[in-house]
Amino acid sequence: MSPVDASIVVVGAGPAGLAAAHALAQRGERRILVLDRDDAPGGLPRFCHHAGFGWEFTHRLETGPRFARRLLAALDPEAVTVIPRTTVLAVHPGPEVEILGAELGHQRLRPRAVVLATGIRERPRSARLVPGRRPERGVLTTGQLQQFVARGVAVGGRRAVVVGTEHVAFSVLFTARRAGLAVVAMIGAEDRVMSYAGAAWAARLVGVPIHLDSSIEDIEGDARVEAVIVRGPGGPRRIACDTVVFCGDFIPDAPLVAASGIALDRGTAGPIVDQFGRTSAPGVFAAGNLLRAVESSGRAAIEGARVGGNVGAYLGGRLGWDASATPIGVGSGLAYAMPQRWAAPGGSGEALAICLGALVDMPQARLCVRAEGATRWMGAPTRILRKRRLTLPPAALAAVAGARAAEISVEGA
Ligand SMILES: Cc1cc2nc3c(=O)[nH]c(=O)nc-3n(C[C@H](O)[C@H](O)[C@H](O)COP(=O)(O)OP(=O)(O)OC[C@H]3O[C@@H](n4cnc5c(N)ncnc54)[C@H](O)[C@@H]3O)c2cc1C
Repeated sequence: MSPVDASIVVVGAGPAGLAAAHALAQRGERRILVLDRDDAPGGLPRFCHHAGFGWEFTHRLETGPRFARRLLAALDPEAVTVIPRTTVLAVHPGPEVEILGAELGHQRLRPRAVVLATGIRERPRSARLVPGRRPERGVLTTGQLQQFVARGVAVGGRRAVVVGTEHVAFSVLFTARRAGLAVVAMIGAEDRVMSYAGAAWAARLVGVPIHLDSSIEDIEGDARVEAVIVRGPGGPRRIACDTVVFCGDFIPDAPLVAASGIALDRGTAGPIVDQFGRTSAPGVFAAGNLLRAVESSGRAAIEGARVGGNVGAYLGGRLGWDASATPIGVGSGLAYAMPQRWAAPGGSGEALAICLGALVDMPQARLCVRAEGATRWMGAPTRILRKRRLTLPPAALAAVAGARAAEISVEGA
């Protein structure tokens, strides 16, 4: 298939994009084009050699590359063409997709629908306002470390400090070992480990101290990192190291969304979508971690498959383009809600899970949905934790369809 003949363009060949393409092919769509700026498809999992990918989607615990290969192998080559080394520069109204590719050059494609699945990126040190010197080598993000290891590039150090205590920070313990690095400390800004207690237990078991309520006050070294000064409850402490890995602090990789004039949400920093993955641009859908940072690879694939199905319904005339959806705002205790719009059901679309970002830890709290001055739904008391998965049952929002606006909040129980 020539790219100009594409009926559907999927941007991003990670779990969400590949699962969307698969779902579309299963619904009988052909001429599906998946583009990725990287030199091979597979998205982030391609670089993560630890086990734990795809569970929710395949019910297998696989390494990242194996999960990526499984998703690729499932694609019908008669229906789906995957082209790496091609960056999508903008999606113009139409939709019209502007691309720049190693083989394809600069072109404009005119598909009937587009799926944006460009994932997340980590904020580097500069964006985190970490003070200290700027050594030439030794300051990395998790993603850079993973890529170096996956591509066989020498990291060069011996002793690493990991900044962050989210799930991915603990995956660095595995990756660091493959890079020949010993992790000498983990630094967490919060008063608790943001991942599960078991992860913290395992880290301490292998002799990695975790400093909570702490932050990096200074980085020493010119040619390479020599030490970090950590400010914590016991005062400043100097930790000798040659590598600092900044983990987590993910944001949706949304420059393409912004360049395309598609409405962005301040809470998630990703595109505003309704429960079917429809963005503000007719014919343009979005799925996966681009919608909010950050879900597991299996959940990103589930979301991609759902949105792929919804695109199929849209192209088949079974799902319209509803501009009158109810806007969903957030009140106390929440940073964001995704989807940000709730359309009247109608048609045959399948709703995305409703994901919420908690601002505070609360041992006993209730999720609450309000519309037009009335409480429409109140959840059972539950424990709410920051940076942990928090969802709302679709039934909680079904009652707000048609309202002028609705708000989700966390109420103390
Ligand atoms: C260090 C680390 C460890 C992780 N560990 C686990 C784990 O153990 N288990 C787990 O389930 N999940 C894990 N994850 C999360 C998992 O990787 C993500 O949930 C998953 O990759 C999200 O899939 P996605 O398709 O939304 O995005 P991605 O996998 O990020 O794919 C997005 C793709 O879009 C492409 N792209 C972006 N912009 C453009 C553009 N303009 N044009 C063309 N292509 C573009 C990118 O090149 C990329 O290939 C980890 C993530 C990280 C960073």
